[in-house]
Amino acid sequence: MPADPILGMTAMFLEDKFPKKVNLGQGVYRTDEGKPYVLSSIKEAEGRVASELQSGRTFKEYLPIEGDATFRKLSAELVFGAGSAALREGRVATMQTISGTGAVSVAASTLRLVGGFTEIYLPEPSWSNHAQIFGAAGLEVRSYPYLDKRTGTTLDFEAMHEALATMVPAGSAVLLHACAHNPTGVDPTPEQWEVLAGTFAKRGLLAVFDSAYQGYASGDLDADAASVRCFEAAGVLPIVCQSYAKSMGLYGERVGAVNFVTASAAEAAAVLSNVKQRVVRPVYSSPPLHGARLASLVLGDPALSAAWRAELLVMAGRVRRMRAELAAALVRLGAPAPDGGRWEHLTAQIGMFAYTGLSAQHVDALRERYHVYMTRDGRACMAALKPDDVEYVAGAMNKVLRGEKD
Ligand code: PMP
Repeated sequence: MPADPILGMTAMFLEDKFPKKVNLGQGVYRTDEGKPYVLSSIKEAEGRVASELQSGRTFKEYLPIEGDATFRKLSAELVFGAGSAALREGRVATMQTISGTGAVSVAASTLRLVGGFTEIYLPEPSWSNHAQIFGAAGLEVRSYPYLDKRTGTTLDFEAMHEALATMVPAGSAVLLHACAHNPTGVDPTPEQWEVLAGTFAKRGLLAVFDSAYQGYASGDLDADAASVRCFEAAGVLPIVCQSYAKSMGLYGERVGAVNFVTASAAEAAAVLSNVKQRVVRPVYSSPPLHGARLASLVLGDPALSAAWRAELLVMAGRVRRMRAELAAALVRLGAPAPDGGRWEHLTAQIGMFAYTGLSAQHVDALRERYHVYMTRDGRACMAALKPDDVEYVAGAMNKVLRGEKD
C-alpha cells in the first residue's frame, strides 16, 4: 500500500538527518522561529475549562451522539452568519464531528446511506484525502475541471462552469472548497460564486462545501464564508463541513462540525436523527469533549472571540508575508517560473498552501538534493516557512528549475 501523499512525506522528513531540512509538506502553522503555535485565546480557554473541571462544575461524561449543543449552535452561526434564513427557521441539522476529516466522512456516509447517492464530483485537483473518504463511504468518485491545465497555477472557471452546467448530471452531489482551495490556493471570485450558485439552484446540484480554513484564508471570518452564504441565499441547500484544526490551531483536538441545510425544521430533525443512528452511532458513538469546550468558549465569549479574531489576522498576515518573501527571492534570483510568469501566482493564491507549479520530478530533486519537502503535486505550505529559510528554499527551487547541479 503506498504511503499517504502528505503524511508519508512527513514521515520521510522526520527520518532525514540533514540539519537544514525544511518541511513544507504538511499543512501546519509555524511561528517565524519555526515553532508550533498555540493561540493565546486557546491557552486562556484551557485555563477556564480546567478550573471549571477542578471546581466540580463540569465532568467528563459522554457527549450526546450529535455533540455539544452550545458548540453546534455557535459553529453553525460562525459559518452561516447572523443573517442566515436557514438558521432562523431551524432548517439546519448540525453534528459535531471528529474535525474536518470526520465532517467530510459523516457527510459522505450520509449521502450514501441516507441520501441514496452513488457518486460525488470533486474538483480536479482536490485535497488528496477527499477521494479516499468518499470512496471509503462507497461512493463513485468523479471529477470536474478546476485548475487551468495551460498555466497549472490559475482557475479555469469556464471549463469548471461548463462541466457543472452541462456535463455533470442534474441532482448530483458536488464538492466545493469554501475558501483557500487545497491544494491550489485558487478560489472563484465573488462574482463567479454567484454564477455557480445560480447554476446549482437551476440544476438541483447538491453542494457539499468543505470549509477547513474559515478565518485563516483572509484573516476575516465573514469574507471566508461568503461562498457558503451566497449559496444559502440563492436557495441552494448545501452541506457544510467545518474544521477548527487550522483556524484555532486545534489540530490534535479534532474539533469540527457538519451542517445539513434542509427545506424545513421537520426535515432537519429527520436528517439529524438519521445521521445519529445510521452514520455516527455504529462508528464512534459520540464526539470528543475537550476541544469542543475550548472552541465553544472562544466562539461564545466576546473577549476570547475578539482575541481569536486578532490572532487570525496575525496568522493570515504571516502566511501572506512568506508568500511575498518567497516570490521576491525567486524573482531576485531570476528563477524560471513553471507557468512562464514572474511568480505572481504565489502572492495571488490564498491560504496556507502555494501551488508552485513544480513538477513531481522537481519536487523529488528538491527533497533528494536540498532536503526541502513538499507534496509531489508541487504544493508547498507557506504557513510552515520561516523567514530564515526563504533564501535557502528559493535557491534550491532555482537550481532544480534550471536543472543545475551543485
Ligand atoms: N478539508 C481540507 C480541504 C483540508 O485541507 C483539511 C486539512 N488538511 C481538512 C479537510 C481536514 O483536516 P482535519 O481533519 O485536521 O480538520
